[in-house]
Amino acid sequence: MQAASEFDIIEQYFKRPVPDSMLGVGDDCALLHLSLGCRMAVSTDMLIEGRHFLPDTDPYNLGYKSLAVNLSDLAAMGAKPLACTLSLALPKINHDWLRGFAAGFHQLSQASNCPLVGGDTTRSLHDIVISVTVMGEVRRNHALRRDKAKAGDDIWVSGSLGAAYVALQLVLGQYQSNQLDMADLLPYMEHPEPRLQLGCSLSGVANAAIDISDGLLQDLGHILTASNCGAVINYDQLPLHPKLHGLPADLRQNALLAGGDAYELCFTVRPRRAEQIQAIAQRIGIPVSRIGTITADDTCVVLDGSGNSMETPVRGFDHFAV
Ligand code: ADP
Ligand code: MG
Repeated sequence: MQAASEFDIIEQYFKRPVPDSMLGVGDDCALLHLSLGCRMAVSTDMLIEGRHFLPDTDPYNLGYKSLAVNLSDLAAMGAKPLACTLSLALPKINHDWLRGFAAGFHQLSQASNCPLVGGDTTRSLHDIVISVTVMGEVRRNHALRRDKAKAGDDIWVSGSLGAAYVALQLVLGQYQSNQLDMADLLPYMEHPEPRLQLGCSLSGVANAAIDISDGLLQDLGHILTASNCGAVINYDQLPLHPKLHGLPADLRQNALLAGGDAYELCFTVRPRRAEQIQAIAQRIGIPVSRIGTITADDTCVVLDGSGNSMETPVRGFDHFAV
């Protein structure tokens, strides 16, 4: 690397103080303390220039989002963040980019009590590659696993759906609207808020959970497959983002059922716990909607307001789909 060494970059942009209970950047390994009776939850996500983000993406937003999508996985497991690592492959040293990226990353790292404790920094040939690993802790037997949904569970979704998806359609020019204000929707795409508090509160209460990154039907489908069950979804109960009520029917359906990048939690809970779920949601200040039921068969049916089965859109995003 020219202009500065790999070590200067780490020192200047990434090394930050960590709590006394841990060892952070600078040794061969980081050391973390795990609370008694807890298990470590670990998750990694990779972001590649041109595939997950456009080359001109604002570096601050990119830094923020590369940690946010990982924290969302901890939330979906019911885990509390402990620490994260960041591996970066950069074709050249661009201090403006590094400054912005680090600022976005550290902002969320601090806000979510997830200190950066290590990583790797290397040179790539062409594209920027970002890989983040998060570690969290969750009480033994309280993790929100995908394979623990049970027939009869209610299915719930946090927050609202569709805003990030429609923002992307507007950015890509695939949908034009003079009613929608881009400024209202863009934050959902650029600054997803990982539902960490909700996830932690659901651990030990919900049976199964997943975060909606690739679209509701696809992500719920992972729970159904892992748990060997089916679902009935009531289309009218899906929480469409309030700004999207004027959408044409087909776009609305895509936004609700297949729209990715929502980073809301979809979780399944015994029906007798419905009031408890509402109380948790109220305490945290995030709305939750009961959208359907887990069934004993292996189909996923979406019912319209009259109880008729709907033709649903192709499932969400798949990197290797042709
Ligand atoms: P090693 O030779 O043991 O792999 P490195 O020289 O790659 O160590 O890294 C030195 C220290 O800086 C290590 O503690 C490593 O975890 C940390 N580090 C490297 N890159 C990053 C980064 N992008 N963000 C945070 N920490 C980093
Ligand atoms: Mg290294």
